[in-house]
Amino acid sequence: MQLLLNNLVEKNRQWTKHGKVANYIPELGKMDSDRLGIVVVDTGRKIYRAGDYQTKLTMQSMSKPIALLLALLDNGEEKVFRKVGKEPTGDPFNSMIKLETLNPSKPLNPMINAGAIAVTSLIKGISKEEKFFRILDLFRKISKNPNLDINMDVYLSEKKTGDRNRSIAYFLRDIGILEGDVEEILDLYFKQCSIEVTCEDIANMGMFLANQGIDRESGKSIAPMHLTQIVKTFMITCGMYDASGEFAINVGIPSKSGVSGGIMCAVPNKMGIGVIGPSLDIKGNSIAGVKLLEDLSEEFKLSIF
Ligand code: GLN
Repeated sequence: MQLLLNNLVEKNRQWTKHGKVANYIPELGKMDSDRLGIVVVDTGRKIYRAGDYQTKLTMQSMSKPIALLLALLDNGEEKVFRKVGKEPTGDPFNSMIKLETLNPSKPLNPMINAGAIAVTSLIKGISKEEKFFRILDLFRKISKNPNLDINMDVYLSEKKTGDRNRSIAYFLRDIGILEGDVEEILDLYFKQCSIEVTCEDIANMGMFLANQGIDRESGKSIAPMHLTQIVKTFMITCGMYDASGEFAINVGIPSKSGVSGGIMCAVPNKMGIGVIGPSLDIKGNSIAGVKLLEDLSEEFKLSIF
């Protein structure tokens, strides 16, 4: 496995030249486009690391499945799915076009920005600080890294420039999906996106989902299996934005990508995988990361289908 991972990273690194680093959040534009790294953890607690696996990145949209899990734990399915749907959109992650054309209107799923902002608004806490701490605490627990924290530069950069998300959020309040202080909800969303991690943290989070919500060291259940199944189902149907269908065919692993170039994968009952590759394709997925996962899935027959 180790040798194969090293080879696959070097084979696929050339793809980084064919994409671009996201720069609509100016701070993300500073990432090195030629990086590619991966960490794989398996149920036998083995861990394999290859390429630029030490490079740090922010969670961005990879935070969406985890925030969804917390909102489901806090509110139950009925309340969460009153605010957000369960269907793929076929549109880019930051699109708002369907918010106006669907009737009755609600974001189509929790993996697009509109849906994720609605989900974050449901996270419980008596103050905005407590809400964020509860998110961070869950991320720390499932990544097994008690030191996770925000990357302040990325957070402030998105807070300053995030007008599209701001428009989405104000629209959501207009149609009755968001309740309360829009700026406070956005602030929480920007913070959750700015939590800084490594591939190993992402792989551990993927492993937690792969392991049905059970901490693989203590054997303790952190979330009910049923809720982790909902989260993984969204990852397979909507996790790679409007490339989710193609990814499901070519890779077949519940995965969630982020514009920082990360991909978090959960191979049910087998593995957690964390990938970094900041150079993105036109849909916003790590261009070399997707190719690397195609090879890995093929090699080890990881597709769930
Ligand atoms: N913070 C980013 C945004 O809302 C996350 C998007 C993403 O990773 N696709 O635009």
